[in-house]
Amino acid sequence: MTLSIYDTLTRTVRPIGTTNGRANIYCCGPTVYRDAHVGNLRTFVLSDLIRRTIELAGGRVDLVQNITDVGHMSEDVIGQDKMLSQAQTEKKDPFEIAQMYEEHFHRDLALLNVRPADKYPRASESIELMIEMITDLINKGFAYIGSDQTVYFDAQAFEGYGQISGNRLKDLKPGHNYEYTDEGGKRFHADWALWKYAGARSEMIWDSPWGAGFPGWHIECSAMSMHFLNKHVDIHIGGIDLRFPHHENERAQSDATLGVETVDLWVHGEHLLFEGRKMSKSSGNVVLVSDLIVRGLDPLAARLCFLENRFRSQMDLTWISLESAHSTLGRWRKKMIQWGDSEEILEDSEFLSAMESDLDTPRALQRIRAIEKNVEISDAQKRARFLYADKVLALDLSRAPVVKEISKEQQSLLDARLIARNEHRWSESDSLRNELETTGLEISDGKDGQSWSWR
Ligand code: AMP
Ligand code: ZN
Repeated sequence: MTLSIYDTLTRTVRPIGTTNGRANIYCCGPTVYRDAHVGNLRTFVLSDLIRRTIELAGGRVDLVQNITDVGHMSEDVIGQDKMLSQAQTEKKDPFEIAQMYEEHFHRDLALLNVRPADKYPRASESIELMIEMITDLINKGFAYIGSDQTVYFDAQAFEGYGQISGNRLKDLKPGHNYEYTDEGGKRFHADWALWKYAGARSEMIWDSPWGAGFPGWHIECSAMSMHFLNKHVDIHIGGIDLRFPHHENERAQSDATLGVETVDLWVHGEHLLFEGRKMSKSSGNVVLVSDLIVRGLDPLAARLCFLENRFRSQMDLTWISLESAHSTLGRWRKKMIQWGDSEEILEDSEFLSAMESDLDTPRALQRIRAIEKNVEISDAQKRARFLYADKVLALDLSRAPVVKEISKEQQSLLDARLIARNEHRWSESDSLRNELETTGLEISDGKDGQSWSWR
């Protein structure tokens, strides 16, 4: 078997294809004007899961993820580039901002065990590629220079426009999206900018055959995906919000340039909510990896929470679910030590089959839990199967759990409880247990007396 996954364009679950024996994957990357939040990371983990599942079955992957450091316009301030407005806020050079958040992006990916892509092309360093593609689109009659000196894609010239999202051109209303209201020089309201005329803008602009300007966000991904993956993408990944207009426009640009269907499968991850609310800066509901660390949570607890949900379902992340995932990780790591120290890996076909069935991660985790509990499987086998699953889960299951010393205060509460128990003062012993539990310890009473562990 091979990985089959839901394709937004055909609305079917289909087996993935390969190009010259490798799966060419393109995952839309971050706009580096701020830190990625845990929602963004859910989408980046999705591409990691796809990659690891293919590799688990012996397949090979070429993964490219772009860094958007120019041209992504803000939803809040019309006509304002996200990079430039953040540079103004932080009083820094926009390239300095980009560099800083790009570094943070790589750090956060590493904390979530997302293996690095093979290439991270930056939009600002791929301007020539975009100019080449835009020139080609003009020559082929798919693009024109508007009355405001901006170059636009002619949406009506591309026959299949709207097929990914189901938005038909005739039903799209003018101004349905901020991108269409701030550009006055186009012929049709659904056309979009490929190359924006600089006008009064003086930063992050480049020379072009159409004068100084800067690229539109959509053309960046077309130019970079087609160039770095050699004109064909087997799997194109992004969050659900990118389905329209970003991916619709990307498909039109790439397909119109090359005259063929350039992307085989479009995969969209559903959004993540936090405590039931959409994550947005304006509502103050943004959670970063650093917020998890401050609370003493292993960032991989977030990865485990993502895995508990199907990627096509919206999920709600909560502090409670993160804490429970954190303790599950601790339990599994402890068991892995109890099960031995062999590095042997044992293939588990049920696990692989769950992953290959449209990335059924909840079923894959169920399998892991069944192995954990099965008394008929030897400890050595349990460990070997966990090691196999961890190649995809990437939860560091063979990592030794952190041994944290207890504080003096905790030790004296434990001593007091021991005395209370010896003297049969049960209600005092119970209240001391409650107090100890609020400090993060778990207390159990066995025939050898009380024992404790970190929760
Ligand atoms: P951005 O940096 O805003 O361009 O977004 C990077 C990626 O994160 C894109 O693939 C988005 O679709 C995705 N994304 C944005 N918000 C969320 C969310 N709440 N949940 C999951 N993915 C998201
Ligand atoms: Zn993109």
